[in-house]
Amino acid sequence: MAASADIILHNAVVHGPVRTADAVVVSGGVIAAVGNSAELMRRAGDDTQVIDCGGRVVVPGIVDPHCHLFAAAAARNGVDCRPAAAPDVAAVIAALRTAAAQGTGWLRGYGYDDSPTGLGRHLNRHDLDAVATQVPVRVEHRSGHACVLNSVGLAQVGIGRDTPDPPGGVIVRDAAGDPTGLLLEMGGWLRERAGVRSGTDKTALRRLAQRLLGYGITAATDAGPDNGLERWQSFIAVVGDGTLPLRLTMMVGFGHMDAIRQAGLSYGSAACDGMLTVGHAKIMLTASGGTLQPHPAELAEMVAEAHGLGFPVAVHAVERDAVVAAALALADAPSLELPDGRIAPDRIEHCAECPPDVLELVASSGAAVTVNAGFLHYDGERYRRTVAADLLPHLYPAGALAARGVPVALASDAPVVEPNPWAAMAAAVTRRSAEGESLGGVSVPSVADALGMHTNGERIAAGGPADLAVVEPDPLGAVVEELASVRAVVTVVGGRVVWQRIRG
Ligand SMILES: [Zn+2]
Repeated sequence: MAASADIILHNAVVHGPVRTADAVVVSGGVIAAVGNSAELMRRAGDDTQVIDCGGRVVVPGIVDPHCHLFAAAAARNGVDCRPAAAPDVAAVIAALRTAAAQGTGWLRGYGYDDSPTGLGRHLNRHDLDAVATQVPVRVEHRSGHACVLNSVGLAQVGIGRDTPDPPGGVIVRDAAGDPTGLLLEMGGWLRERAGVRSGTDKTALRRLAQRLLGYGITAATDAGPDNGLERWQSFIAVVGDGTLPLRLTMMVGFGHMDAIRQAGLSYGSAACDGMLTVGHAKIMLTASGGTLQPHPAELAEMVAEAHGLGFPVAVHAVERDAVVAAALALADAPSLELPDGRIAPDRIEHCAECPPDVLELVASSGAAVTVNAGFLHYDGERYRRTVAADLLPHLYPAGALAARGVPVALASDAPVVEPNPWAAMAAAVTRRSAEGESLGGVSVPSVADALGMHTNGERIAAGGPADLAVVEPDPLGAVVEELASVRAVVTVVGGRVVWQRIRG
């Protein structure tokens, strides 16, 4: 007789190939059986965790293939400067001042928005000097790609009039050549400066993990362009001690591949009992300012170099020209074959501006695409106001890409927006903002297809990994307006219940 089960989920509706299944047996970290409750309950032993799902739906664990975990954890540390909390510059200054009176060391704020629906402009050091002239102040932009320091803060990290821009970063300057306080893509640079170490705030990471598991997320990939050996060690610490009880993948910043390899690691290397894995090499490609950075010839070399070192690449591409350049570069590069003979597909991250002609290039590039449909939900109103009407239907076109045969995965890019996968699925299906306004678009996926885009196409079947979520309301039965409000009741990762919500 087979050993008794670790977990039995019964009285459930199982979203999988067996339509009549109402129970799942988990044993040794994998799904041991899917079938009929009455029959499978016989596998219960004294130590089996038997969970009555109350008729709720069991779905494969949700995967977030592109987010920024430490940034997402840190993003809620400090003063809330998001438009809802601080709608204008005066309100940001007032909120920071209140906090400045209480603390010592760096004063942090997060979430300011320079767009017309936010502050209408970037903050600068003069704004933040009005908060404090003796204490360093740092406020993160909502994108996570920019921050603003006050004059003391700039002095503490050694930024002055003569400081050159670091590789990949920009010290924004005024007409006289003085730093305005706004720093672009300098998170990694600041992290290396004494006094600005974000440290590993385990309480914040634990809180983030609760949020992710509460959505039914069982696996996530950190897509930080600065990820290297140091970040890998940080992940080992917080995955190893259970602070982040999810399956995690760390992409490697393009400039960090050598260091990772010198440490004996390569793409697919695992740690923490297989819960932590080395992922794609991350390449940043931007077309903001009218020129491609890096140049297409250089991009081609970077892709070849990564492949040569055994890494598939994930190319950040948001603007139309960047998506085109990424698609052309990947179309030209032979796919990476892993030592075991499998092909490791390259990826295009974001694919924000993707009208039909660009979509064709993406489709013929052979790349997989990671799309932030959640942006349509959370930022849809801003897009409606600021994006050209003919481009709007082609922003983050998850459905249109999938219809053209492109492997599409949905991802949050948290902390840019809340890592709510159900909001992303809702927006992929409806192409509506949270406020209910349509952005237009064709070839919208079904809810089941959208769920597939957020679960790596995984099915609940015997032999599969026991990464599961019991959710409510039923995403496949719910009216689509309710989809964004789906939440997990039980979340199972690697055959262990890591999150459970007692029904109130
Ligand atoms: Zn990102």
